[in-house]
Amino acid sequence: MTAPRLEIDLGKIRHNARTLVGQLADRDISVTGVTKAALGSPEIAGALLQAGVSALGDSRIENIEAMCLAKVPAPMTLIRSPMLSQADQVVAHADLSFNTELDVISKLSSAARKAGRTHGIVLMVELGDLREGIMPGDLENTVRETLRFPNIALKGIGTNLACRSGVSPDARNMAELSVLANSIDAIFGSMLDIVSGGNSASLEWALSGADTGRINNLRLGESILLGCGPLHRQPIDGLHTDAITLIAEVIEAKVKPSQPWGEIAQAAFGETPPTMDRGPISQTILAIGRQDTDPCGLYPPPGMEILGASSDHLVLDSDRCPQPIGAEIAFQLNYSALLRAMTSPFVAKVMKAGTETATGRMAEDNVRRPDRDLVGSRNQG
Ligand SMILES: *Cc1c(COP(=O)(O)O)cnc(C)c1O
Repeated sequence: MTAPRLEIDLGKIRHNARTLVGQLADRDISVTGVTKAALGSPEIAGALLQAGVSALGDSRIENIEAMCLAKVPAPMTLIRSPMLSQADQVVAHADLSFNTELDVISKLSSAARKAGRTHGIVLMVELGDLREGIMPGDLENTVRETLRFPNIALKGIGTNLACRSGVSPDARNMAELSVLANSIDAIFGSMLDIVSGGNSASLEWALSGADTGRINNLRLGESILLGCGPLHRQPIDGLHTDAITLIAEVIEAKVKPSQPWGEIAQAAFGETPPTMDRGPISQTILAIGRQDTDPCGLYPPPGMEILGASSDHLVLDSDRCPQPIGAEIAFQLNYSALLRAMTSPFVAKVMKAGTETATGRMAEDNVRRPDRDLVGSRNQG
């Protein structure tokens, strides 16, 4: 079969989504299934919908367009603030978009009027992570202005944490969002249907038994696709962590010294060579590299270790299990590696219909290790 390729088990994704949708429904929280790490795949979108997500969210209008073209039957949310230059596309394909700028909402309003549609708006509030969001003190005024625009329907407020600065959702910042929702409703009359409390990083808080207040929606991508929480990158109980695997093929297998020789300058991506001489090792090269994925986010099978990567080569120490030429090696991935592999035209995507099975955590031996740098490859942004 073609390599490299992502093997995507739709049954496991469905299981993960259904599990989280069920747990959150008990807390009156709906799930927007986030497809941005799936390149708007209609198959993955379909699995999320079968599992009961109430809407789909993507950060790219192109992905939403692709899902609309494929007739994926779901309300579509653009979860990144629209570009002014894409207002027409946004209004044509997304039912709802996340916004923080009145200039953008104004443009969406004219585009919606032109198209004879109403466009839904969720105003994003800054609660400390310092990515997108209106400062809480400016929210009331932004709501007042938003309500003036024709063909715009203010549907709710939301926040995003843990993405830029790693600020964790907790009782304090989640309560702040609820207080803001209550005060907007008090001032303008009950109007906020959606209070969206964040991404997969908010799961721990939402399922902790804490008072969830006004929060009635989460937007989940990573936790569904990878079965992991983004805060500590630990497997979530009851979820599959191997719904998606990346397969690459061996193109060279030789015993080589573990240390390079000659005068050492910088490598292609700024890595410095390993400092420990381990003597000769079975070095294996796979036909996959930085053009295909993020090598720092790959988890090799037991007995193999990633030594380095360039644009098109991944170098492994496979001393404990030498591999023949042509062998296929399967990796688990973190979010960064998944995103890059999904968006690389060099990586095939193979969907397996799969049956929806419960996890057998002990049998699967799928405990993840924390992210780590490739040997000596720091400082590469
Ligand atoms: C990516 C993203 C999400 C989904 O995040 P996960 O960690 O994958 O669950 C939710 N909301 C916004 C605004 C995002 O950009």
